[in-house]
Amino acid sequence: MDVFETACRRAVAYRSEVATQRVKPQLSYHQMLARFAGPLPEAGIPDCAVINELADLGEAGLMPITHPRFFGWVMGASAPVSVAADWLAAAWGQNAAMHSVTPTAAAVEEIAAGWLLEILDLPREAAVGFVTGATAGSFAALAAARGSLLRRSGWDCEADGLFGAPQVHVFVSDDVHASVLSALRYLGFGERRVVRVDTDSQGRMLAEDLARRCAACEGLKLIIAQAGQINTGAFDPFASLADIAHDNEAWLHVDAAFGLWARAVPDLRPLTEGIERADSWVVDGHKWLQVPFDSGYAIVRDADALQRSMAISASYLPAKGAGERLPSHLVPELSRRARGLSTWAALKSLGRSGVAAMVSRHCALARKIAADVAQVPGILVMNDVVLNQVILRFGADGDGAERRKVLATSVMNQLVADGIIFVAGAAWRGEWVMRISVISGAISDEDAAITIQAIRTAWTQVLAAPSLESVTS
Ligand SMILES: *Cc1c(COP(=O)(O)O)cnc(C)c1O
Repeated sequence: MDVFETACRRAVAYRSEVATQRVKPQLSYHQMLARFAGPLPEAGIPDCAVINELADLGEAGLMPITHPRFFGWVMGASAPVSVAADWLAAAWGQNAAMHSVTPTAAAVEEIAAGWLLEILDLPREAAVGFVTGATAGSFAALAAARGSLLRRSGWDCEADGLFGAPQVHVFVSDDVHASVLSALRYLGFGERRVVRVDTDSQGRMLAEDLARRCAACEGLKLIIAQAGQINTGAFDPFASLADIAHDNEAWLHVDAAFGLWARAVPDLRPLTEGIERADSWVVDGHKWLQVPFDSGYAIVRDADALQRSMAISASYLPAKGAGERLPSHLVPELSRRARGLSTWAALKSLGRSGVAAMVSRHCALARKIAADVAQVPGILVMNDVVLNQVILRFGADGDGAERRKVLATSVMNQLVADGIIFVAGAAWRGEWVMRISVISGAISDEDAAITIQAIRTAWTQVLAAPSLESVTS
């Protein structure tokens, strides 16, 4: 059992130092490949030596995603308590597929599912599948949607598949997250067959355009909305979308990978008004709840629809009794780890008020960062900071988009090279912007102040550089 202690020691050493590290990997992917390269071992080595070698070789290629000033993409920072629960999940070695076989795994999941529905204030009768993330969550929820819609037309999709089935019209926002298109693709809805609905400057779906496009289509309809656009953090107008879905007898699904947590905060909750009228939702645990990867939730109002699309049955597998949770009937996988434990631990550790305080604090810090850098000449905050996302444009109106892209890239290269904060870019409305996602559990006011200063300094350095090439090279 020494190997557990070795891993524990290495993990503790890493996590207690991570906030003092520069926020970038020391070595690149190719350098790490060279470090790990070697033939398949003919003979094994002792377990502790394996773990020490993994840590000795591997640490230089770690991205400090758990660092309080990691602002890349939208990623959580895995709270220690949830990581610890996840260790137990692995050490206990439970296969969470069957409730009667691994009672603790299924019971904890069932309780955590109830807590999630309560804190997110979604219909308490909804089914919650513990999936690997929002992509898998959309896959599961949209499979339920597909089955349910087609059943209404007398078509049994689970039995007869899609060939020859009535058409289902799929409506997505023009600023849809790419993972939704992937989920649609896995389900036999081609990416190109979706109807893209116009959005406003913040990436919110325009309800009038959705209504118009729905009116132009006959037949079954699936509408996919979004809570928390990845660049702007914006929320679709759910109350209007729910009305349109109702009028069209459509299934309304919401990709709310991080935005759904706004519902846990009384001040932010109005952003989600009407979202509870949808038919399905996905939200991640591994983003704002600070649960380790891979953890997300597929939430479907019609529990039966989710079970019909996901259930795995065989003579040698236990059946589901009335009132029992059979985890393998709610997710795509059969064998999997006890994913509910880390979610249970996060909610137990933070409590309702702790989740609200964390989400609220992150949003306040995002507003603070945006307000301060907006004072700097040449930096433009391109979004209304309604949540935790801030996007910045660098350069003046007269510079032109190409030149501004060079400027933004130079600032980001400078910041990443300095390693005080980590940020990455994206294309948004014809601009190349710097994205700041405030979502690390541990970020403090001081971290926000350091971030503001780092951006100011990098921008000053870029402007002072004799040529931009010297900065970008
Ligand atoms: C992160 C994200 C996803 C994908 O989630 P995964 O957990 O990475 O699968 C989908 N939609 C939105 C809005 C996201 O932010």
